Amino acid sequence: MKTISLITSAFLLITSQACESSTSPELSGEPSLNLTSLPAIGELVVSDSSSLIFMREEEKLARDVYQFFFEKYGLSVFDNISNSEQRHMDAIKVLLDRYQLTDPVTDNSPGVFKDTLLASLYNSLTQKGSESAVEAAKVGMLIEEIDIRDLEERFSATVSEDVLWVVGNLTRGSRNHLRGFNGYLVSQSVVYTPAILAQEVYNAIVSSPVERGGRNR
Ligand code: MN
Ligand code: MN
Repeated sequence: MKTISLITSAFLLITSQACESSTSPELSGEPSLNLTSLPAIGELVVSDSSSLIFMREEEKLARDVYQFFFEKYGLSVFDNISNSEQRHMDAIKVLLDRYQLTDPVTDNSPGVFKDTLLASLYNSLTQKGSESAVEAAKVGMLIEEIDIRDLEERFSATVSEDVLWVVGNLTRGSRNHLRGFNGYLVSQSVVYTPAILAQEVYNAIVSSPVERGGRNR
């Protein structure tokens, strides 16, 4: 009975990921790309510029790695979350344009990054996930953990409401992605051990339901 209910909840998680990605970005906790729904332009603190430029490529890393895994394994969880990462990239692009920052993405091809750390991560993570779909989902979990940490650390001094709004939405998206990948791992009877997030924080995320839209701040 327990196995069945675990598989059922994994299925529901994956299904809800599929629905939210294909239907309404608004309902999925994704930031709207409509400029009028963003809070007004604010003041950037010193670290914001480099952080926004970096996060634009970090979201691309997630998009490219998941697309690579989707092409390899054909699992919809990778396609759905890759599409969500495209929306995260788009949201950061809106901020780059607003604050007249240079977009590091001049070549949208998979695996191409200005940041050398992200370029090498693309290579090592796609290689690691090429072992099996389970390894690929674990790579997804790691990317989401890194994403949550980077969003929290890099924007801890941020005061602009529009930047905080996007960061809040991207962080919520990452929590949902952790739930999505974990749903797949649970369906394969795999227990993931967090590499970056504290175990209690991780447990609280994956044991709570998918977060829908609504303003974080
Ligand atoms: Mn993301
Ligand atoms: Mn993500």
